[in-house]
Amino acid sequence: MKKTAAHQKTAPDMASVAESIIASQSTGIIYLDGDGRIALINARAESMLHTSAGDVTGKRVDMLPLRTPVYRVLSENCREMPVEVSVNGAVLTARSAEVRIPSGESSGEIYELLDVTEEKKEKRHREEIVAMMTHDLKSPLTVLMGYVQALRNEDGTKVHVSLLPCLDEMDRSALKLLAMIEDVLDAYRLEVGLLQTTCSWCDLSAILEACCHDMAREASSRGVRLNHNIESGIPAMNVDGNQLSRVFANIIGNAVKFTPRKGQVTVNAWLGDEKLHVAVTDTGIGIPQKDLPRIFNKYFRSKGANGFRGTGLGLTISKAIVEAHGGAIAVESAVGEGSCFTIVIPCSAA
Ligand code: ADP
Repeated sequence: MKKTAAHQKTAPDMASVAESIIASQSTGIIYLDGDGRIALINARAESMLHTSAGDVTGKRVDMLPLRTPVYRVLSENCREMPVEVSVNGAVLTARSAEVRIPSGESSGEIYELLDVTEEKKEKRHREEIVAMMTHDLKSPLTVLMGYVQALRNEDGTKVHVSLLPCLDEMDRSALKLLAMIEDVLDAYRLEVGLLQTTCSWCDLSAILEACCHDMAREASSRGVRLNHNIESGIPAMNVDGNQLSRVFANIIGNAVKFTPRKGQVTVNAWLGDEKLHVAVTDTGIGIPQKDLPRIFNKYFRSKGANGFRGTGLGLTISKAIVEAHGGAIAVESAVGEGSCFTIVIPCSAA
C-alpha cells in the first residue's frame, strides 16, 4: 500500500522522539559521548545536580569544576554497582552503563540518577523502631537470665538435680538470644555511626583462649572437633577486648555452626609483622565464590545458610570492629571443602 502525504508528514524523527522521551523521564539521565563529553542531560538531572544543560553540554568530565555535584557524580565508577552521592542534603544513587550501537561498538556512557532521600529517611525510621524495640527486649531477658542464674546457684534443696540440665539449656539459649539482640543493635549503631570501641590494655591470647574454651562445648555437642593453637608471647594490646571477643566468638561460632558432624574447626593465632593473626579454618559447607564479595554485607546470607540459625549481621559487625582497630578480615572458601577466615590486628592498635 502506498503511503499518503499525511502519513509522510507525521512520520516521527526517531532521534527527536528519543530526546523527548529522555527529557520527560522522572529519573535524571546524562549521556556522555564516545569522547567523554556531556552530549545530553535531561531536566531532572539538571535539577538534581543544580546545574544547567547550557553550562555543561559539550564539556568533558575533566573540564568540569571539581566538587560540583555533576563532576562528583560523573567521576564515580558506578558501572558494577550503583553509587550513593549526597548533594545538598539529598541522597542520589547513580548507575552507569555503556551504550553500544547495533554494530557492537561503544558509543559512550549513560548515567541514570535516582533521588532516594525519602526512601533513606523511611529506612532509617524503620531501623530506629526496630532498634528501640530490640533494646526494650533486653530488660525482660536480663530479668529472666537473673532468675535462671539464681536457680542454677541453688544448693540443690530447692531445685531438683534432674532440672539442672534444663536450667543450663535455658541459660545457654538466653545468652544466644542476648547475642542476637546485641547484633541487631550494633548493626543499627554501625549504620548511624555510633558503634564505639573502648580500648584498654588486654591480653588477647587469653581472650581468644577463653573463647575457644566456650566454643569447644558447643562444638562437641554438635560432634565437631575444635582445636586451637595460640602462639605464646603475644603481648598485651591496647584494644577493645569485649568487642574483639565478640568477633572471635562470631567467627569461631560460624565455623562450628556451618561444619557438619565429624568435621573439624582449627583456630591458629600467631604474631607476624607486629600484627596478631588469627586464622579460623573449618571443614564445613563452604561459601560459593560468587557470594564471597558480598559475605560481609549487612543481612547477606549465602543460600547454603538456609536452615542454620542466624541474622546475617555477625560478619558485618565483625568487619567493622576489626577495621576500627586498624585491622582487616578476609575469607577464602570452597563449597563442600570448608572456609578460612583470617583476622589481622596491628599490635599498635588503639
Ligand atoms: P549468620 O551466621 O548469622 O548468618 P554472619 O554475618 O555471621 O551471619 O555470616 C553471613 C553468612 O556468611 C552466613 O549466613 C553464611 O552464609 C556465611 N558464612 C559465614 N561463616 C561461614 C563459614 N564458616 N562457613 C560457611 N559459610 C559461612
